[in-house]
Amino acid sequence: TKKSNRSPAIIIHNKLTMASFADAARFLLLTAVGIAGNPSTADAASASPVSGWRSDLDWAALNSKLSSSASLIDTSYDDYAGECRPEFSEPWDSISNHALIDQPSGMCLPWLYLGWEMSWPRPSENGHLNQTFNQAYQDILDLFNDASTDVESWLADPTNPSLNLPSKVLFPSIASDVVAAVNFAKEHGLEISVKNSGHSYQGASSKKNTLLLNMNRYTHYAPTGITDCDASILGSTVTEDLSNQPCLLSLAKNKSSLIRVGGGENFDKVYRAVIAANEEEGYKYHLVGGYAGTVSPMGWSWQGGLGGSTGGRLYGFGVDQVVQLEMVLPNGVHVKFGPTDWEDASAEGFTVPRTKVVSGVCRSNPDEHDEENWVWQSCPEDFDIDFNDMWFAVRGGGGGTWGVVTSVYLQLHDYLPFKSYLFNNPPFRTEKCTAIFPQFAEFVAHYMSAPSLLNVTKERSHACGSPDPRAGIYCHGEEDVMQAWTRFLDLNNSTDPANVACLFSSDKLASHYNLPAPPGYAEFMISFAKNLRADRFPGKVPDDPPGKIGADLAGVLVPQSWLDEGEENRKTLQENGTPYYYAFGGAAASGSDQANSLSQAHRNAAFMAYFSDDYFWGNLFPKMFDISDKTKFPPVFGSNHAGFLTAGPLKEDWTKPCPREWTFEERREKCISFQEAIYGTERLARLEAIKKAVDPQFIFNCVNCVGNNLPEASKSEDDEPSPAEAEPLLGNSSDETSGASFVSSF
Ligand SMILES: Cc1cc2nc3c(=O)[nH]c(=O)nc-3n(C[C@H](O)[C@H](O)[C@H](O)COP(=O)(O)OP(=O)(O)OC[C@H]3O[C@@H](n4cnc5c(N)ncnc54)[C@H](O)[C@@H]3O)c2cc1C
Repeated sequence: TKKSNRSPAIIIHNKLTMASFADAARFLLLTAVGIAGNPSTADAASASPVSGWRSDLDWAALNSKLSSSASLIDTSYDDYAGECRPEFSEPWDSISNHALIDQPSGMCLPWLYLGWEMSWPRPSENGHLNQTFNQAYQDILDLFNDASTDVESWLADPTNPSLNLPSKVLFPSIASDVVAAVNFAKEHGLEISVKNSGHSYQGASSKKNTLLLNMNRYTHYAPTGITDCDASILGSTVTEDLSNQPCLLSLAKNKSSLIRVGGGENFDKVYRAVIAANEEEGYKYHLVGGYAGTVSPMGWSWQGGLGGSTGGRLYGFGVDQVVQLEMVLPNGVHVKFGPTDWEDASAEGFTVPRTKVVSGVCRSNPDEHDEENWVWQSCPEDFDIDFNDMWFAVRGGGGGTWGVVTSVYLQLHDYLPFKSYLFNNPPFRTEKCTAIFPQFAEFVAHYMSAPSLLNVTKERSHACGSPDPRAGIYCHGEEDVMQAWTRFLDLNNSTDPANVACLFSSDKLASHYNLPAPPGYAEFMISFAKNLRADRFPGKVPDDPPGKIGADLAGVLVPQSWLDEGEENRKTLQENGTPYYYAFGGAAASGSDQANSLSQAHRNAAFMAYFSDDYFWGNLFPKMFDISDKTKFPPVFGSNHAGFLTAGPLKEDWTKPCPREWTFEERREKCISFQEAIYGTERLARLEAIKKAVDPQFIFNCVNCVGNNLPEASKSEDDEPSPAEAEPLLGNSSDETSGASFVSSF
């Protein structure tokens, strides 16, 4: 091992510029750092280990089954160092995953350290189990403070046992490639990891000693994927091959169009497909999606999908946009499935029908490459996977663990005019505005979760969302944000016009740059990038500079009901939390089909916020959540933004944080797990039971995913309740409030 003599120049990732978009800016104490400096590729190459993972296997046999446009390649640390690391030498705010996604090895990750276990390059033989949380924290603090550490030598060491890189990468291009890979893995007892953007904060999309399926070259359906449903089919029965199921379900939701998206397409590609259709046909479509162009509807949707900038409060979470799923399951079968029977649930306060039955079909000719010739039929008699369970598990239970999603039909909504509002951002930034940011944060809190205090109706409030007040407010349809801001300043006796001007709309920005007002969120981001940031990828929806939520507490889903108890609760949060994520309430609360695994905490939340762990567990947790039943830990965190150090409190006392001086092994044993804190005890039990039923070999075993933390012995144990016994087949679990009771509260 050679130590590089290059000093690690640390770039702290906490600028509150317009360019520091929401997720990047969202940090507790030390979430985001990047290393500058060229890779020591030469050093690495000279010490490169032999890449021999499972060289005993007949990989040529797998190769022979792949389509001509798929490729299976050997990869090594050298590829990561040579192809991926240079990007992190770019100025911090122009680093982009757009530069990394298409690198030939398919290994690059948007956050350099994701290439090491737990995003922590300190060497460890057992995945850091023997090291303490304090050590991890200190290592990151050292980087934060530009203190001298051994990090450069860890990063440059190709034999570092903490490296977490796969040495076989498959780029499937059609479903038969995925079928071949899963069957090969099944036959040889291999694990598969699945990656789209690699953005998973938990590092769930890449893992050493796995066959990595990099989905980026998979068939792109979005460019021609929009379907306008013919309303005359309403009332027809679902065809046996489910071909009319997406439209029938959409029409039942009073929606008339949808889009098919491939398992490797990111939001940049999907947004641009929608823009192209809108430009061609006159603006009529709206897609709910993520903030950054490189985030994909895959992990984003399966983990929940917060649409803070794209109308999530009008149309629901990512899971609520899914109309039909097509997947290759861990048993190697290519299936598609979706609801085929539903009923009106408006009387209980839901805005979409309740799913009663989910049906699926299997492809009877899985080796056929040409999609024109695919044959979808009833699944064979020995096919023992329940599609109701799959529909529930995939939508909310996380990506990468239930199989490979090859395509999905997503709901499109009617187009609504768009406007964004930015506070104290270039080119209109002033010192005076910087000083009043706390007031602006308070204003946003009221606008989003107590609008009546500003004389704003709930409907108008729901038209807007915000991934972070520092990144702007994004509205679709009617709203009155400027008027409400003026009223807020009035109420606070601070009507100075300079204060009013701290908030400005996208229209003002556009006119400043002599551009047309952006008709939608993605258009706004594209033209914003062109004007205010280094535009390395013109025409693409930008992504954030690399961010990492690495702190000890993930985003807490703050219950609206607790907030409604009194203004003092809101004040407590303002004094102790960080800026909030507003993608909750409205249709995000009421848009559930009641057959998904997204935790009820999402539906009940007013927003998501970050706190220090000792303050949260000791003070807020017992007040915000019902912890009277000690056998059922409630769901607390949002999965999309949960970092690799996230854990619940002490098992024996839920008001105490998991001790930081403990090793990760002790923490795993004695603290509430990451998964339990995301899903809650009850829902997790059902998900784990489904996991064991659909993937008994644990072919899919991604980091921090459902089932990943189960002790080896219990993975094959049969003493678990069946999925249906663990929780009713469809519908809410008993310890959670119904959608209806929440809907009426906000
Ligand atoms: C810059 C940035 C902006 C973000 N903005 C938002 C936002 O606005 N709202 C929000 O809710 N979250 C947001 N997030 C969080 C984001 O939702 C998660 O990082 C999510 O994991 C990204 O999913 P992905 O598919 O892009 O990433 P990946 O890391 O590629 O995948 C995430 C998970 O999905 C699995 N997966 C990927 N593709 C497939 C597939 N085809 N089949 C099965 N499993 C698959 C992976 O195995 C992994 O487990 C943001 C994150 C970043 C870094």
